[in-house]
Amino acid sequence: ISLLSWFRSSTLMVLCYILILYFLCYVFNAFLIIYRCIFAVLIIASKQINKSVALDDPILTDGDIVMEEDAERNFDPCTCRGCMWGKQTDGKVYIPYYVANHFSSREKAIITRGLESFSSFSWSRFRPSRSSDRDWLSIESQNSCHSYVCCLGGKQVVSLGQSGCLYHGTIQHELLHALGFNHEQTRSDRDNHIRVLLENVVSGMELNFRKIATPNQGTPCNYNSDMQYHRYAFSKNNRPTMVPIPNPNVSFGNAKEMSRNDNARLNMLHKCCKCP
Ligand SMILES: [Zn+2]
Repeated sequence: ISLLSWFRSSTLMVLCYILILYFLCYVFNAFLIIYRCIFAVLIIASKQINKSVALDDPILTDGDIVMEEDAERNFDPCTCRGCMWGKQTDGKVYIPYYVANHFSSREKAIITRGLESFSSFSWSRFRPSRSSDRDWLSIESQNSCHSYVCCLGGKQVVSLGQSGCLYHGTIQHELLHALGFNHEQTRSDRDNHIRVLLENVVSGMELNFRKIATPNQGTPCNYNSDMQYHRYAFSKNNRPTMVPIPNPNVSFGNAKEMSRNDNARLNMLHKCCKCP
């Protein structure tokens, strides 16, 4: 009898162990599923946040080139019509500027750093304006980051909004517009290097992807130019609006400041601009 009861109790015990083990596996599996779900949700959320951050970037969201009322001033026709900032006898190009007083001293220091950066790699010299200057840049904080292209004559506003434009690369970007440069994705040979997906562009913003008859001066299309928008610029559906060709995965539109190519192109423009 004792043997029988021992057998029964040990069988019962084994069954209990199996049940407990099964229960533990079940609980572990449930935790694993919950963990995977949370992880997946976090990844999706972080991707959305990244895109939102990119789209909040003023360089990306604003059509930041100010158009004249009756004519678009492009790099190419503008520079060929002689609207470049004048070159002086010492070979340098001096651009007078005034920084509005509504900027704090810290903000002015950031802007000055951007202005002065040009003297380390180019012939451009931004200098404080004098009362005798006929043409000059008025650097102000309006609603967004924007600039005219080229030198238009007289007072010319470059807007660096205090809430989102005071970054080194953004300041250089707007100044490059004033010096005569357009966005990289508008290059005349753009279609050989960038596929534009207009079906993903916010309605009414297609103008930002138009092509301009830029001379390009023999320089290659530069995906990491300070003038290249991000691949999600003006996207209405979180899908890319631009994809590099032929390799869609190369770094694209991630510049935080002017690239070597930007510097070279600026020097080329001021030394000898070839016009068609
Ligand atoms: Zn721009």
